[in-house]
Amino acid sequence: NTTLDVTWAIDWLRKSAAVVAEHRMALIELDRAIGDGDHGENLDRGFSAILEKLDAEAPATPGTAFKLAAMTLMSKVGGAAGPLYGTAYLRAATAVGDAVELDAATLVAALTAARDGVVARGKAEAGEKTMIDAWTPAVDAATAAADSGAAPAEVLAAAATAAEVGAVATEPLIARKGRASYLGERAIGHRDPGAESSALILRAAAQAAGV
Ligand code: ADP
Ligand code: MG
Ligand code: MG
Repeated sequence: NTTLDVTWAIDWLRKSAAVVAEHRMALIELDRAIGDGDHGENLDRGFSAILEKLDAEAPATPGTAFKLAAMTLMSKVGGAAGPLYGTAYLRAATAVGDAVELDAATLVAALTAARDGVVARGKAEAGEKTMIDAWTPAVDAATAAADSGAAPAEVLAAAATAAEVGAVATEPLIARKGRASYLGERAIGHRDPGAESSALILRAAAQAAGV
């Protein structure tokens, strides 16, 4: 149960890079089924570049770590996911400002801002088989946990679990946004790759916090 300071933020990014590398092929396979098969490769490239930047110069606050992630993902990832994840991290950076440590309320504000950024950028609503279907349940669960007095690490654990459930719940959906929307009913039965990667990244955040 760690405090959510810059050490946590850096560890989150490092653990995200590790889990994206580990699930690279699985994410490629998901995207092959309903997209163009590049999601795992795109994200792995982006998070590898984040590791290089972290090695070159360690950020001083969670906000600067999120900003580093945003800039790198926007410039390296491409496709739909690059600008969407980039916007998520950029909005999170703005939400936390120059806080040295995130309390539960600031964490919820950051997660909410990240989700709202993805919505503003991609215009997807809940149930359209996108990463929003992981992010929105995560934000709702995080909000509920914080409201009931949970510590920041537990708020992250609640968010990660809800994102995982949300990612699985994309399987029966028809896609309304992104490449998968071209498939119509043929997308049914396949998990959305962006929802899956979002769940992996949110689980990495909880693990970095020691839960
Ligand atoms: P591309 O489809 O351009 O190859 P990626 O494969 O990297 O991009 O990412 C695909 C993922 O992006 C999808 O699985 C979905 O979760 C997400 N996505 C696509 N379009 C949108 C959108 N408009 N809003 C939210 N998420 C989206
Ligand atoms: Mg793709
Ligand atoms: Mg692509």
